[in-house]
Amino acid sequence: MTAETIYAPCSGLGQSAVAVIRLSGGETGRVLSALLQGALPPSRQACLRRLCDPATSEEIDRGLVIWFPAPGSFTGEDMAELHLHGGRAVLARVLDVLSGQPRTRLAEPGEFTRRAFENGKLDLTAAEGIADLVAAETEAQRAQALGQVKGALGKQYESWRQRLVSALAHMEAGIDFSDEDVPSDPATGKLHDILGVYGEITQHLDDSRRGERLRDGICVAILGPPNVGKSSLLNALAQKDAAIVAASAGTTRDVIEVHLDLGGYPVTLVDTAGLRATSDEVESEGVRRAAEKASQADLKLVVVSPDVALEHCKEALRFCEGETLLLMNKADLLPQFPEFESQWDTKYASFFGEQESIREQLAISVKTGAGLSQLLGCLENRLTSWFSQISAETPSLTRQRHRDALRECHAALTRVLAALGAEAVEENNILAAGDSYNRAGASAMGKNTIAVELVAEDLRLAVRYLGRITGSVDVEDLLDLIFSDFCIGK
Ligand code: GDP
Repeated sequence: MTAETIYAPCSGLGQSAVAVIRLSGGETGRVLSALLQGALPPSRQACLRRLCDPATSEEIDRGLVIWFPAPGSFTGEDMAELHLHGGRAVLARVLDVLSGQPRTRLAEPGEFTRRAFENGKLDLTAAEGIADLVAAETEAQRAQALGQVKGALGKQYESWRQRLVSALAHMEAGIDFSDEDVPSDPATGKLHDILGVYGEITQHLDDSRRGERLRDGICVAILGPPNVGKSSLLNALAQKDAAIVAASAGTTRDVIEVHLDLGGYPVTLVDTAGLRATSDEVESEGVRRAAEKASQADLKLVVVSPDVALEHCKEALRFCEGETLLLMNKADLLPQFPEFESQWDTKYASFFGEQESIREQLAISVKTGAGLSQLLGCLENRLTSWFSQISAETPSLTRQRHRDALRECHAALTRVLAALGAEAVEENNILAAGDSYNRAGASAMGKNTIAVELVAEDLRLAVRYLGRITGSVDVEDLLDLIFSDFCIGK
């Protein structure tokens, strides 16, 4: 059991109706009975009690107190929760009393969850899920994070790890007892398991980063020449009741971001500097940043308008790769620019028409609001189709950390299968590797101890990389990194 007992307000600082302070560690029971000036309440029951300063017996507050003796607590240690009146003075006084108790200290960010992990209460993916759940801003993010907290990802990775551990055990039995009465080719029976895990990881990695996009938000960049109404469009969309969660402007001099909730999906809408060739130093920096944003965006909205000549759209055209939606803004001006409409099908169609990435075009008017609902609907449809494959049954990758480890695991398995099945290990011909292995590779496995040891080492690496994701092995160096993302009290 960890020596120091930690405490922290877990309902945030500042005034609130109720504030909750948590304690965890071996001293919790003693500290709690000192505060209550008497016996501990029955475990896991909310009891209304007076909380006093142990030094003076002065009453500080009355509130609900819950006592969770180990191991049946979130952290696996003795824990308590104090539900107090949420005034600053109450909170400050109770925290002051707690700090005066021997062997207690304020918790570090994420320390409660870290202790839960260290005491085997949850794996690392579930711990990360808790951080995501606390940070979730949209329905879809909440659902994904909750699935992860409930262990959807952890179970998936652990089941792959177990299957590989079992294959490794067979292989190592062959190495250690090669002269004894074990099957001459101990890995044979496990090859299909390795192939199965390999195929499933391949599929899991090939997910268009759906889970990560959902966690971080889809980036939609508004691009186009100056004066076509890009900023007006961003403002109009941000003010749509259907869309907005929070607006944060001015992340850089000339790239403005607004965070939207579209149908439960998180979207970061980015307005960029007008794209045009320029010799002005400051403007070209803006264009460079716009270009950078455009290259990172998941979806681009390229805006044109009838009062801006087609030639000025050329710069924007350069960014029409990846998914692009072409918006003809200022539709209200069309009667003044009849040539625009007549040219649309000829000049503009050939101008933009060759861009395969432009699958849809929409006429809108930010000024009159015409077409904006269709635009939001169109964006929502795209998000729904992107994310439709995310479900609780097939959890998605949510972090680069997991992706990196899975890639390493995949590479190690590729080497294992290549050694077993030689050249037959092709991405889309995995089963052939098994056949080839059964025919030719098997005998090598049984007889060539050095080769077997090398293969076993790669398999061991694959197991270790999976273990690093859930925290089953070798993760000490990762812990500070992961738990430092948490807030205090979690
Ligand atoms: P940006 O340079 O592309 O960001 O363009 P702005 O949003 O600054 O708009 C340029 C000008 O076009 C402003 O005077 C806007 O009021 C005007 N504008 C924007 N949208 C519309 C529209 O739908 N119709 C009309 N008539 N004018 C618009």
